[in-house]
Amino acid sequence: MGRVAPDILEEIKERIDIVQLVSQYLPLKRAGRNFKALCPFHVEKTPSFTVSPEKQFFHCFGCGASGDIFQFLMRMENITFPEAMEKLAEQAGVEIPKGREEEGDGERNRLYYLHKVATDYFHQALLSPPGQKARELVLSRGIGSSAWETFQLGYAPDSWDRLRDVLKAKGFTAAEMLSVGLLGEREGGRDPYVKFRHRLMIPIWDSKGRVVAFGGRALDPNQEPKYLNSPEHLLFKKGEILYPFHMARKAVRDMGYVLLVEGYMDAITCHLRGFPNALAALGTALTPSQARKVARLSREVVLAYDGDDAGRKAALRAASVLFQVGVVPRVVLLPPGEDPDSFLRNRGQGTFASLVEGAEDVVLWYMAELESLHSLSHPRERARWLKEVLGFLAPLKGSLDLESYLVEVASKTGVTLEGLKREIYGGGKGKVGKTSRAIMGSWEMLYLALALSNPRWWRVFKGEVLEDAFVHSLWEKVKGEDDPSLALSMLDDKERSLLVAKVMEIPEEGVEDLFASCHRRAERKALEREARRLKMNMEGVSGDEREHLLARYIEIMKSIKGTGEEGVYETH
Ligand SMILES: [Zn+2]
Repeated sequence: MGRVAPDILEEIKERIDIVQLVSQYLPLKRAGRNFKALCPFHVEKTPSFTVSPEKQFFHCFGCGASGDIFQFLMRMENITFPEAMEKLAEQAGVEIPKGREEEGDGERNRLYYLHKVATDYFHQALLSPPGQKARELVLSRGIGSSAWETFQLGYAPDSWDRLRDVLKAKGFTAAEMLSVGLLGEREGGRDPYVKFRHRLMIPIWDSKGRVVAFGGRALDPNQEPKYLNSPEHLLFKKGEILYPFHMARKAVRDMGYVLLVEGYMDAITCHLRGFPNALAALGTALTPSQARKVARLSREVVLAYDGDDAGRKAALRAASVLFQVGVVPRVVLLPPGEDPDSFLRNRGQGTFASLVEGAEDVVLWYMAELESLHSLSHPRERARWLKEVLGFLAPLKGSLDLESYLVEVASKTGVTLEGLKREIYGGGKGKVGKTSRAIMGSWEMLYLALALSNPRWWRVFKGEVLEDAFVHSLWEKVKGEDDPSLALSMLDDKERSLLVAKVMEIPEEGVEDLFASCHRRAERKALEREARRLKMNMEGVSGDEREHLLARYIEIMKSIKGTGEEGVYETH
């Protein structure tokens, strides 16, 4: 997403009270300093959903849902952060200045328009006589004419110049067409040529439903390559797009999960046959950016990849990328030689639905798969099995899911839980101890949690001094964000829940002092770190330079003394 001025977010938060916002959706009852209701995010009989007017956070002590007004609206309406911001800004009467992206960016707007003109041109061609082969192909795939409209399918005529002339007549330059890969350059300065010829054209949308690229599928068996796709350009970053995001979003909300498939043809078939929650990552390995998009839509993800070896490997890779955003997907196992597209067409929606229903937890599936390669009854094989499983689980470090899988691994191998943790967190007991202590609450955890509750504190927060591996990993996820609301939205549900729960339990009167005390401690750590650095630098130098470093070193040591040790809040 584009940069949002943090003061806009602050202004929205100042004007919209979380109690008032939540009341628009649920009946809140006062309970002491807080308000309570039955949680809208899980089924419960006694209210554990709590809203704090002081902290301006909500937190469910049942399911862990938590956050500020932005997270509440995102979750309630299943929308993205920018969308939640737009809605709340409107409610608050705060105007969002048009970013560089929207205003005065003639270049981007021209390229959007160029893609629209090309889409219409291809679509008309599909309906015209030369489009016959393309029509036959889609019909043979069970894609009827109403879907041609929905997916804006098209046909690129077998011509080296027609598209170029059409776009030129609309005022676009050859340079623009070249920049988005619709034209290719010819040697000797001759006119550039049209790249997509005699192909079925599939427009690729960005998350707002604007066409930013094309996939072109060959129509003749000897045509190379079989799939020709737009190259990346100003509007098109392949690794950020999920196809068709703007169509699937609502269905994901209704159905409660994302069905992740490999290619756009799979996605189209799924949408037409009862799975409008399908999304495809454009035939490449899932990227972290796509994984974050998926995670924001839903924490429930089912992977339906090809049934062959390559498909299984791709599913495992996707899973490990999803792990990094805290999602543990389930997997549908298609028979070898089938993909969701062929399976749905050959075996029907009901059969596919029951496969999805029975989708397996990816970790349990992987462990079982590996067991067929490495028998657990032989010590050496067992060690190899263990090594691979722990490697696979490594991206889940610091998450609560990991704990439960390790219990499973322990029971299968007879290795103790402590031993497995040592293995995964690499090295000494210390680190494991630190992590579990972090979950219980170190001062660093508290420091981060408090900073996330107040934009003023967030601005001065010194994340670089964090030493605790777990807290540091949280900081890594949020450190680029200018505002705590944005930062909170970068964390997964469990992580956010840990932090918000921490803030909720501190009485309002004490928070200022508490933050100040944590902050002093962080400043002191920063100074100590600087002092260590200077000392090391002094080793190798002499003369004036050494004098200079020494003077600074002494100055820093004085400041450290000045910060004192008093009043530091300890939770362990
Ligand atoms: Zn709940």
